[in-house]
Amino acid sequence: MTTSFGPSYVRAIAPYIAGKPISEVAREFGLDEAKIVKLASNENPLGMPESAQRAMAQAASELGRYPDANAFELKAALSERYGVPSDWITLGNGSNDILEIAAHAFVEKGQSIVYAQYSFAVYALATQGLGARAIVVPAVKFGHDLDAMLAAITDDTRLVFVANPNNPTGTFIEGPKLEAFLAKVPRHVAVVLDEAYTEYLPAEKRYDSIEWVRRFPNLLVSRTFSKAFGLAGLRVGFAIAQPELTDLLNRLRQPFNVNTLAQAAAIAALNDRAFLEKSAALNAQGYRRLTEAFDKLGLEYVPSDGNFVLVRVGDDDAAGNRVNLALLKQGVIVRPVGNYGLPQWLRVTIGLPEENEAFISALEKTLATA
Ligand SMILES: *Cc1c(COP(=O)(O)O)cnc(C)c1O
Repeated sequence: MTTSFGPSYVRAIAPYIAGKPISEVAREFGLDEAKIVKLASNENPLGMPESAQRAMAQAASELGRYPDANAFELKAALSERYGVPSDWITLGNGSNDILEIAAHAFVEKGQSIVYAQYSFAVYALATQGLGARAIVVPAVKFGHDLDAMLAAITDDTRLVFVANPNNPTGTFIEGPKLEAFLAKVPRHVAVVLDEAYTEYLPAEKRYDSIEWVRRFPNLLVSRTFSKAFGLAGLRVGFAIAQPELTDLLNRLRQPFNVNTLAQAAAIAALNDRAFLEKSAALNAQGYRRLTEAFDKLGLEYVPSDGNFVLVRVGDDDAAGNRVNLALLKQGVIVRPVGNYGLPQWLRVTIGLPEENEAFISALEKTLATA
């Protein structure tokens, strides 16, 4: 007889650690909310596009009714934008929802899921939540080792998670390498290609993963409105896959998993190309500024293709938490990544120019007195 509730594999889960909200840091450190800079959750520093705010305000009058469970208009907009039929699209309450649903749709308890060391925390959570077996493949230069991941696939593997670019490391796998990998993955193994930051990629790094979906029936591409599209608080993500996989996801998702406001805002954001371009340009400029500051401070960092940078702030295992605390006291929230096995590092989201400056000067002060 067990004396605890719940399966042991659920009790073994370490809950997800989110970036600290501004209000919490203000309370804890006695700071003025307006002066706090949050660079902890890879949100778009420009906030929501105005087009999306207007669409959301209009949709507010419809909130007495349930959302469109099939999100007809948002799917139609995505279908047109990405050139796939609507029945290849699944919407999620954030792409986090997609990752969870995919794990439940493709994998049974006791089967295995392959993902890379230092890859997105949700892959481990989704695996553990199922009672599935995690096969964690050691990273190379903080990125995915695709050959080793391929070799790690066993008879009972049903899913491989690949993040490109990866969070929290920012590493990027070039299109041709990824395509060669997909061609070698056995057909009984689904691949979830998590492209949460794809809109930030410069033109020369882009590849056409939607075209791969047409060729590989075991591929699911996951995207989000939370990052470059600026809608993190609304929670919208989507998956593109052939109907066989999409149909499985559709059976498991909650019928109303994307709310009315989110559906309206996402359509507007999707069509706001000017906002996306502005976001990517601001990000590229901020990346140059942050990495130049790290170089000047002699800090190692991982070259990033996302809207964040992983930087090493000390040599001892307490360095990340120590520097994080010093930054919090100065009103700067970044993300410690000890939970990823990176206790000497911090992940900082690229912000507005003035936010980047506030972070850099707080970091300089902290390191000067360390
Ligand atoms: C942020 C992020 C997501 C999920 O974001 P949602 O807000 O749930 O859409 C998924 N994958 C990676 C790699 C991320 O960094």
